[in-house]
Amino acid sequence: MALDSIAPGHIKSEDLHRQEICLVGRWLYARHFVASTDGNVSVRLDSGRILTTPTAIGKGMMAPDDLVITDLKGNRLSGRRAASTELEMHLLIYRRRPDIQAICHAHPPIATGYAAAGIPLNKAILSELVLALGCIPVAPYATPGTPELSQRMEPLVQHYDAILMANHGVVTYGADLLTAFFRMETVEHFAQVSLVTELLGKQTLLSGGDVEKLLTARARYGTTTASQMGPLCPETSDTADARQARVTVTREQLEALIEEAVRKDRAMR
Ligand SMILES: [Zn+2]
Repeated sequence: MALDSIAPGHIKSEDLHRQEICLVGRWLYARHFVASTDGNVSVRLDSGRILTTPTAIGKGMMAPDDLVITDLKGNRLSGRRAASTELEMHLLIYRRRPDIQAICHAHPPIATGYAAAGIPLNKAILSELVLALGCIPVAPYATPGTPELSQRMEPLVQHYDAILMANHGVVTYGADLLTAFFRMETVEHFAQVSLVTELLGKQTLLSGGDVEKLLTARARYGTTTASQMGPLCPETSDTADARQARVTVTREQLEALIEEAVRKDRAMR
C-alpha cells in the first residue's frame, strides 16, 4: 500500500526515503506546485550519496524504483533513468550546507509569479513567516541545468532556507524531507497572502523591534540562518520608511509649509 504520511526526522531506510520522495511528488502535483514533468526532489542518503527524482517524469506518478542514486558530483551510481537536469542545483546546496538533508524544487504559481516579476518575498507582514524563514530572496536568472544557475544561487544558499529563482520557480530545503516540503508550502502560502495585501492596496509591516524579537526567538529554535540576513531581510516598517524617506508632519505644520510656499511664490511675481 502506498505511503500517505511522512514522519519527521531523517534517519530512515533507503526504501522508506524512496517511498517518501514519491509521496512528496504526489503532494507537489496535487497542490499544483508542479505541472507536467516539472520539479524535482532529493534526499541525502549518506556522506557520499544522493537519492533523487529522474528527469522527464510526472512527479505525481513516480514509483520508488524510478528514483536515481548519484554521488555528490552527479555521477549516477544506480537507477535505470537519468537524474534530473536540475540536479546540479541540489548538489550545490548539499555541498554548501552540511545541515541540509532534503531539497524540493517546484514551480508553485503565485510564488513563481513573484520570481518572474523579480520581487522578493521579504516584507515583514506575517510574524509566522519571519519565524519560519526570515524572508525569501530572488536569485538572478540563469538557464536551468547550467553551472551559471548554481553560481547565481551560491551566495544566497548559506543565508536562506528558501529561494525564489528568477523567471523559473522556487527551491526549499531542510534537515529532513518533511521540513523541505513544508517550506515549499509556506513559501506559496506567504506569496498568496502577500498578493492579497497588494490587491487590497495596503501592507502593514511589522516594526524593526517586533522583527528583532521574532529573529531572536528564531535563533533560539536553533535555526542556523537567523543572524545572517541582510538589512532588508525582512523589510520592516522602519526600513521601509527610511527607504522611502517618509516624514510625518501635523496638519498645522503642513498648513504652515503651504502658506510659506504660497507667500514666497507671490513675492517672486
Ligand atoms: Zn524547475
